Amino acid sequence: MASSKTTRSRDVKLLGLAASGGVAVGRVLRLDEHGRYQFYYIGITAGQVRNEITRLHQAFKEARVQMEEIQDRLARELGYKHSYILDAHLLMLEDKRLMTELEQEIRSRRINAEWAVRDVTDRAVEAYRHVHDQYLRERASDIEDVTTRLLAILSGHAKFDLSKLDEDVIVVACDIWPSTVAELDFNRVLGFATDAGGMTSHAAIIARALRIPAVVGLHEVTRLIRTGDTIIVDGGTGEIILRPTRPVIRQYAEKRKRDVARLAIPIAQPSEPAETIDGVRIRLRANVELSTEIESLALFGAEGIGLYRSEYIFLNRLPELPGEDEQYLIYARLAEATGEAGASIRVFDLGGDKLTLEGYKEEQNPALGLRAIRLSLKAEDIFRTQLRAILRASSHGRLRIVLPLISTIPELRQARAIIDLVKREMADRGIVYDAEIPIGVMIEVPAAAMMADLFAREVDFLSIGTNDLIQYLLAVDRANENVAHLYQPLHPAVLRTISFLVRAAKSARVPIELCGEMASDPIHAIVLIGLGIRTLSLAPASIPLIKNAVRSIELARVRSLIKDAMKLASAAEVEEMLARELPRQAPRFFAAWPSRG
Ligand code: PEP
Ligand code: MG
Repeated sequence: MASSKTTRSRDVKLLGLAASGGVAVGRVLRLDEHGRYQFYYIGITAGQVRNEITRLHQAFKEARVQMEEIQDRLARELGYKHSYILDAHLLMLEDKRLMTELEQEIRSRRINAEWAVRDVTDRAVEAYRHVHDQYLRERASDIEDVTTRLLAILSGHAKFDLSKLDEDVIVVACDIWPSTVAELDFNRVLGFATDAGGMTSHAAIIARALRIPAVVGLHEVTRLIRTGDTIIVDGGTGEIILRPTRPVIRQYAEKRKRDVARLAIPIAQPSEPAETIDGVRIRLRANVELSTEIESLALFGAEGIGLYRSEYIFLNRLPELPGEDEQYLIYARLAEATGEAGASIRVFDLGGDKLTLEGYKEEQNPALGLRAIRLSLKAEDIFRTQLRAILRASSHGRLRIVLPLISTIPELRQARAIIDLVKREMADRGIVYDAEIPIGVMIEVPAAAMMADLFAREVDFLSIGTNDLIQYLLAVDRANENVAHLYQPLHPAVLRTISFLVRAAKSARVPIELCGEMASDPIHAIVLIGLGIRTLSLAPASIPLIKNAVRSIELARVRSLIKDAMKLASAAEVEEMLARELPRQAPRFFAAWPSRG
């Protein structure tokens, strides 16, 4: 749980989950959630009444200016006969009775201006909704429109084009949806801080991929901070400091410098092999969400793409769907950019905590609902379009198809039958594709893990998705900060399941790899290698660090350590043992690695 305490007279500290390392100091850009502006009830003192009323007047004035500008534009572009549309809005902003009522509300109930606006306008909307005259009834939406504008102004919320920020900002929001993150100008985003979210929420994953400091699960940061405030985000400790004093800012600026220096030292070069001291070669591939990341693969020394999260193509465009040609160009680019090492295209994993298709929203329990392959099998047209695009692109290089969230063998067979059908149709039309394109399943559901031996007989490879596997194995929502302490990658049940999967794959002689976030953490990555995983797929920016960890260990010793770890009773015991043993076994790397406390 996030907790707050005061460190000095002005610095307010909040504690959340350290989702992406590094320190950021800067000014806040607070985003609203799902297009609605945030506002809160704040009780005020008698001395603050005047200030609140002044804020109210200023907000009305600003709203009038904005409305007049919009009206002028309407008049210019559509002609004067359409500019009347905003007359009602302007009348409301000039309504003296409304202003008096709002002032009285603030004075008598001692509440903030936002709350007064919301309460009074809610009552007005309610009254309009009950009148018979349709014209008058429609006035209710005018009131909502003006109210939204007023609340936006009062909460310090300007209208931003997120892709064109003109200053560096720390983005603060209730939750940051993948679509919002993708829209942001990454060169300008210094850090993230969110009320919601767990370590494997997509915002956290993207923040780590971009090496942007992030703290999630703060519960109330949006309530305590406004756009323009200064804030410090410490993604290493999970601390946020609101409105810090100068000495605190200086202290963190120093820490930031040290962090940057530390990050700069212990990383392996792209040319150095990911090989343990006793000569075992580990393959480090990239997890890719955004096509802009392709350029960074060579920079970080990735051996191809182990997971392309294709659903990110949908960002910023639902309900419009990406067409076959558009997808084909993206997949062909991935095939060409990854050469011999190739790329695994995971078919759309929509639903769950991600985006979903129109008409499929609102499930009571989306993580257990129509998600990933289940949705693809239901929306078969969309699935087929994607398969055609992947197959066409497979003629440009080495692509593989990965099926997410498979839970039954019949589901796999159904998906394979559709793939075969699409292949036949393409062959009939003389379209070239890789007839031998490898097909794999993601092992993310405990039922699939238990059946791994049978799955292994029907696929070309297995790919363990630990983000979901841990969520479903331990019954812990991966994005829920209230149970984040129970989301334990080192839970002996997780280790035992992975060990079981490695053995099943080995006896079926089918390659097995792993692409969850566990691979991005040096300690977890070593555990996975000790369990027998030889191919890891992770955020490209984390590859040099993990490679350095790999190069610092002797696999034979790590293996016996992990064998013992699997017999322990809890994640805490495993962590304790690793914290004791790894610095002894691999002092060059782990003696310097920060303990989790
Ligand atoms: C996983 O579940 O581990 C995985 C890699 O898929 P995602 O995080 O996209 O659900
Ligand atoms: Mg997954």
